[in-house]
Amino acid sequence: MSERNVIIIGSGPAGYTAAIYCARADMKPMMISGQQPGGQLMLTSDVENWPGEPDGVMGPDLMEKLKRQALRFGTEMVEDLVTEVDFSSQPFVVKTENETYQTKTVIIATGASAKWLGIPGEDRLQGKGVSACATCDGFFFRDKEVVVIGGGDSAAEESTFLTKFAKKVYLLVRRDELRASKIMQTRVRNNEKIEVLWNTEAVELLGEDKVEGVKVKNNQTGEEATLNVEGYFAAIGHKPNTDLFADVLELDQKGYIKHAPDSTKTNIEGVFAAGDVIDPHYRQAVTAAGLGCMSALEAERYLSAQE
Ligand code: NDP
Repeated sequence: MSERNVIIIGSGPAGYTAAIYCARADMKPMMISGQQPGGQLMLTSDVENWPGEPDGVMGPDLMEKLKRQALRFGTEMVEDLVTEVDFSSQPFVVKTENETYQTKTVIIATGASAKWLGIPGEDRLQGKGVSACATCDGFFFRDKEVVVIGGGDSAAEESTFLTKFAKKVYLLVRRDELRASKIMQTRVRNNEKIEVLWNTEAVELLGEDKVEGVKVKNNQTGEEATLNVEGYFAAIGHKPNTDLFADVLELDQKGYIKHAPDSTKTNIEGVFAAGDVIDPHYRQAVTAAGLGCMSALEAERYLSAQE
């Protein structure tokens, strides 16, 4: 079995940027793109904050461009799912559903996924009024009423965005204050279409084939009510996709891969991690891409030092 220089796991902005840099450094990278190639931006419509795209770019189009750029310099693309890794000794081993590979370095760019409450109806009504992305799905709720769950910047941003379409947005906050930044809080408070329901939790979604309402409960008084909404947006944060590495690498309390300060180096030499899988703070495509670039430069330096 031939040993590779670098295997990149994941195909969001971090993974593709790492691939572009590795390929241009003649490292002949292999990228294993996972089940949903392209990552979270595949679920987004217009991306307006990607530098160099003054008119905005559709998420899937941006990912296609990044893919083409990575392929142009010779990245080997494998559409497969990694099922197991062994970083205990060199060469590292990366197993997928179909193959086993050996490699000198690994760049982990597996990203993050939206968290869900896990209440009845949330699974059943996915894509039928249940969403974790207002930018992707807000358009479908013109003149309708919706709920947003959460009290952070995501929830504030999503509720504000949804008022472009929806006639009313209920923001369900489980405490009596928002965690969101001051500016986002002000935007929420000043928006007449948003009604904040404090100390309130969603307990069940109603409807068989589409969302027809959400049962809510005040966690102080125990009082229950039904909101007659047609849309349900969870904005309670994201979970890094690190299950595969739980017993292999050091993770922080929230499951993000621990890395050296100002670096993408993990606790195992030769293993690097980039993008949302190490970043609970910024979570932007452009910051993920920057981290992807750093990981490629660090992998290249590591390989040079080994030689
Ligand atoms: P956060 O972790 O910041 O906030 C999650 C929110 O969801 C909190 O208010 C939390 O409540 C609530 N929550 C969590 N679990 C539950 C639950 N089971 N039931 C009800 N509510 C729940 O996540 P975000 O995605 O909002 O933000 C993540 C990071 O990304 C932050 O650093 C944020 O600043 C940043 N970000 C920045 C943006 C921007 O600058 N434009 C936009 C979006 C995100 P509680 O407060 O009680 O814990």
